[in-house]
Amino acid sequence: YAFPEARPQRQFAAVFNLNRCIGCQTCTMACKSTWTFSEGQEYMWWNNVESKPYGGYPKNWDVKLLSMLGPQPWNGRTYEGKTIFEARDPAKQTVTGMVALGYLPSDEEWRHPNLYEDASRGHNPRGESLPEHQHWGFYLPRICNHCTYPACLAACPRKAIYKRQEDGIVLIDQARCRGYRKCMEACPYKKPMYRGTTGTSEKCIGCYPRIEQGQATRCIATCIGKIRLFGWVDDPESPVHYLVHKAKVALPLYPQFGTEPNVYYIPPRWVSRAYLTQMFGPGVEEAIETYTHPDKELLGVLQLFGATDRIIHRYRIEDEEAVGFDAAGNEVVRTAIWEPVQVRPENRH
Ligand code: SF4
Ligand code: SF4
Repeated sequence: YAFPEARPQRQFAAVFNLNRCIGCQTCTMACKSTWTFSEGQEYMWWNNVESKPYGGYPKNWDVKLLSMLGPQPWNGRTYEGKTIFEARDPAKQTVTGMVALGYLPSDEEWRHPNLYEDASRGHNPRGESLPEHQHWGFYLPRICNHCTYPACLAACPRKAIYKRQEDGIVLIDQARCRGYRKCMEACPYKKPMYRGTTGTSEKCIGCYPRIEQGQATRCIATCIGKIRLFGWVDDPESPVHYLVHKAKVALPLYPQFGTEPNVYYIPPRWVSRAYLTQMFGPGVEEAIETYTHPDKELLGVLQLFGATDRIIHRYRIEDEEAVGFDAAGNEVVRTAIWEPVQVRPENRH
């Protein structure tokens, strides 16, 4: 952070395990029935699940961004190419001077939530169908990443977008928004959407009213495949922190964009490594190796997927109560939540 005082107290984050998504769209419908169901929001799906490699919402969003960005060289784990902030077109500067490299999807591109779903054939640039072929595929569920460096926020000339201090969730102030759609243009993940009936932009709100009550988002809570886990990426006691920073099995989507997204993915083990490396960066090989040969600790954390935050934290041991017993019956002063301990009855709550 250039301005440490701008860092949120803790950062909302999630891990999605792509090895387990079955593409049922229950998450999408849970989101839609909660937040985007009214008139003027017919095309809005704040949570979407697209099938890769051919699907996408809006259509071809990532293929377009990657080709606009140009070469994306990595030196080991260090990205040496340009991010969307560095590759921006000087001719597109606004008064804020901050618009990142991007494009505004057309109405046609928003029309189909997942065109070419489960297709076993690709399409050439003219839209002509290529011959059917043997292929791998997987489902990629997506929500707003509530980025550490949100391109949407930087692009808004009305300063209508802000990142909450208490949880790092990125919101659009509907009273300030004038629908200039600079956020839609700048967000590399194309997550803000324009609502014609109000003339404002809207996007995933991270179900903040639920987060404030210690619950997970609707898409996470309803996931049929139990592929989603909610947590705090900067809290060493959160299972999400463990999966991202300790086990290193969960990776950010297109880290080369440079916004530092806070939704992390466990890559699908059957997919071409070259494709996955382009999508999740150079940690893919190790992440899959660790995931397919988990130690007991990782295995334990993987069982938490599908559990609500309330259940996970029911067994969390707070500082002043950090006393439990290890397997030998010795008193343990402090322990991480993924190390099982027997908690004294009076400390259960
Ligand atoms: Fe903004 Fe897009 Fe990042 Fe969400 S994913 S915080 S809309 S830049
Ligand atoms: Fe995948 Fe879960 Fe959504 Fe079903 S509910 S599509 S399993 S993320």
